[in-house]
Amino acid sequence: MKPVGPIPAGFAGQSRLSVGGVDFAELLDRAGDTPAFLYDGGAMAAQVARLRAALPEQVGVHYAIKANPHAAVLAAMAILVDGLDVASGGELAMALAVKRAAAISFAGPGKRDDELEQAIAAGATLHVESEGEADRALAIGGRLGLRPRIAVRVNPDFELRGSGMRMGGRASPFGVDAARVPALVRRLVATGADWHGFHIFAGSQTLDTAAIVEAQAATLALAERLAEEVGTVPAFVNLGGGFGIPYFAGDTPVDVEAIGKTLGEALDRRGTVLADTGFAVELGRWLVGEAGVYCTRVVDVKESGGETFVVVDGGLHHQLAASGNFGTVVRRNYPVAVAERMDAVPVMTASVVGCLCTPLDRLADRVALPPVEVGDTIVLFQAGAYGATASPAAFLGHPPARELLVPLRD
Ligand SMILES: *Cc1c(COP(=O)(O)O)cnc(C)c1O
Repeated sequence: MKPVGPIPAGFAGQSRLSVGGVDFAELLDRAGDTPAFLYDGGAMAAQVARLRAALPEQVGVHYAIKANPHAAVLAAMAILVDGLDVASGGELAMALAVKRAAAISFAGPGKRDDELEQAIAAGATLHVESEGEADRALAIGGRLGLRPRIAVRVNPDFELRGSGMRMGGRASPFGVDAARVPALVRRLVATGADWHGFHIFAGSQTLDTAAIVEAQAATLALAERLAEEVGTVPAFVNLGGGFGIPYFAGDTPVDVEAIGKTLGEALDRRGTVLADTGFAVELGRWLVGEAGVYCTRVVDVKESGGETFVVVDGGLHHQLAASGNFGTVVRRNYPVAVAERMDAVPVMTASVVGCLCTPLDRLADRVALPPVEVGDTIVLFQAGAYGATASPAAFLGHPPARELLVPLRD
């Protein structure tokens, strides 16, 4: 038997799964059928509120929409947060439908000219990732007769320790190396662009509170040093994020209250060059990940080679990360339960496998489960971020997962 991750606090202790106070069976009826992602709008709102309470007043909250761009989720989050961070022309269009352009920033390498034009025409902030991209943005602005609003994404000279995805301290497709940033910003200012400041993102998915505190302090120090070298006050500094959520056995949540407290102290000590600068953190996973579950129905229970396999109608084409095939080195089990019997005593060890004809499609590997019958509902937790949106939905021709947001006040 292998360990599973912790069931998130919002669902722990239930006897039947409910999301946002509504029984899962009713929600699956509303969604139409399994497989389905169910999202708790109240839990998302509570998470934003908790973060706001923890952060210093002058630090805004941005939502990185790639974590979950489902239209209803995005519309709900747009109301809750100060800004939306997008990383493609498609995401930009989605964000513009729910948020004013001045509160949208567009990062990401490889922006095409038509994407740059879309952002400049709309008045969104471009986070340029290279000198070449800055030149293209300036040229497009000139052609359109518009003054592009440009922040410079900095490839920091440090990295977020313990991060699932390191984004700094080394050669990187993301951002401009810190040493070259002042020259670029001076050029932007000289050409009359609306230079908006810095974007410094040091990494993603860490549960190490001390590492986040350290990275934020280093980020502030770097922004201050760069602003001094440039000699212009940046309007805005995006401090990045990187807060993880607990997926696996032994994982513990980040302490956002401690992070907010030390960030407040660091901001109180900041140099005068940043005195009038606005700040934000940008988070995806931490804001929405725990609020979502993936429900999939049991279509078969079979024995083979002395092992039990619970075969479900969903799979890695919807929830790739739970299969261990999305950026993990060692496959470990996400939290999993039987929705009808959340509190039942485990009686067997079984693997939950998806319906795809590939051995990769294993959603839970040799976990302890209560009795399971055909027609029961398996629930995988921590599915609110990088689930539907980050899975190969077209693989093997099954229908996409349904998605349903339980609104804040259902
Ligand atoms: C992906 C991404 C985020 C969000 O990361 P999470 O781990 O989901 O919080 C934030 N900023 C940038 C630049 C990103 O690329």
